[in-house]
Amino acid sequence: MAKYFGTYGIRGKLDTLTPGFTLRMCSAFGTYIRGGRVLVGRDARLSGTMLEHAAVAGLLSAGCEVLGLGIVPLPTLEFEIKRLSAAGGLMITASHNPPDWNGLKFADKDGIGISREEGERIERIFEKGDFNTAEWNKLGKVEHYSLALEEHADALRKCIEKRHILKEAPKVVLDCGNGTASLIAPKLFKEFGCRITTLNAQLDGSFPGRNSEPTPQNLKGLMDAVVALNADMGVAWDGDADRVIFIDEKGGYIYGDKSFALCVDIALRERKGYVVTTVATSNAVADVTKERGGLIEYVKVGGPYLSRRAKELNAVIAGEEAGGVLWPAVHLGKDGFLTAFKVLERICKDGRSLSSLIADMPAYYNAKTKVECPAEKKLAILRKFKEKVRRDGRINDLDGMRVDFEDSWVIVRASGTENLMRIFAEAKSQKKADKILRKYKRIVETLR
Ligand code: MG
Repeated sequence: MAKYFGTYGIRGKLDTLTPGFTLRMCSAFGTYIRGGRVLVGRDARLSGTMLEHAAVAGLLSAGCEVLGLGIVPLPTLEFEIKRLSAAGGLMITASHNPPDWNGLKFADKDGIGISREEGERIERIFEKGDFNTAEWNKLGKVEHYSLALEEHADALRKCIEKRHILKEAPKVVLDCGNGTASLIAPKLFKEFGCRITTLNAQLDGSFPGRNSEPTPQNLKGLMDAVVALNADMGVAWDGDADRVIFIDEKGGYIYGDKSFALCVDIALRERKGYVVTTVATSNAVADVTKERGGLIEYVKVGGPYLSRRAKELNAVIAGEEAGGVLWPAVHLGKDGFLTAFKVLERICKDGRSLSSLIADMPAYYNAKTKVECPAEKKLAILRKFKEKVRRDGRINDLDGMRVDFEDSWVIVRASGTENLMRIFAEAKSQKKADKILRKYKRIVETLR
């Protein structure tokens, strides 16, 4: 089990994520990928410059050369890894975590995030101190690359039929959350012909405007603004702009599973093929996939698993329930901009409101809870749970334990960071979802 790596890289406060730690971990990563050119980007967090310098030193010492992109969104970095045929990438960001956090998101030569399993191998190099060390006269260069934002924007422009948006000139409120979305979103929305109002669209690593996780609580200001301005929709990104959340024209928050279902509908109309999603995703996605003649494929929860499988299957689209959608034709990371533009384009093309498009998606209700449990018991509980429920429905044990019933399901997963088991149920009515949740919570409790 990886000690530091989570589902996508490492996150922590500065007491654990020190410059020394960062330097050694980057040497381990540089050793793991056997040198080559590494792209380094960061978000605007106040500790970003300090950690970037440590990271660059670590990469150079392991025989890498560094191309610094400066402050960029995560999808921009992932896009450029492939475009520039780099050996890998590092984004210094803590995504949606509070401003005193930071993190290291490593990616491979395909722009795919380093998973927990690959992270384990990097950790072994880190623990042993088994680093490649470049000789004094063979140390790589550090150069700055300033075209990344413009090149990513260009790729986004090519994916969108601007004329539909120009014709409708929708009114859109953008909440960039003082994150890296500020660098691309306002400019392109304007260019595509939207009448925009921006909130928190200045880069600021202390996140003064709102907490950078786009939850309903944190997007109150955006929801109010959409209603007050009589706008057609609101759009909000997390700190590194891989995830995006939509607000409909009535000020309603649209959960990520609903917007992902809409994106699947959009993508499968363009091309048939695979849709990759996690075992924790709503059946709305499976229903839309089936209806539109696509094939669904499930993976473990985590961006890198989505990207890897999407590449293997040449998938049309991949995504998860928290607002992260990836469009493999452009690059293999979640892209909060492309997702926003695809939805915008659809609204304008069909001349329909966002709420009515979402209302077309299959309706499911969910319920979630957690049960406290000591870390050392988690695996045993899952094993016993599988034994206990295996006749109840179809079992999927890819990640935790999911049990599928006729048109509902429940999943029990061990939290990666806390002493908890998380339980999530989905059904065609709230009452049924609550009932399933109660039943399986009781079972988990008796197994502790
Ligand atoms: Mg993120």
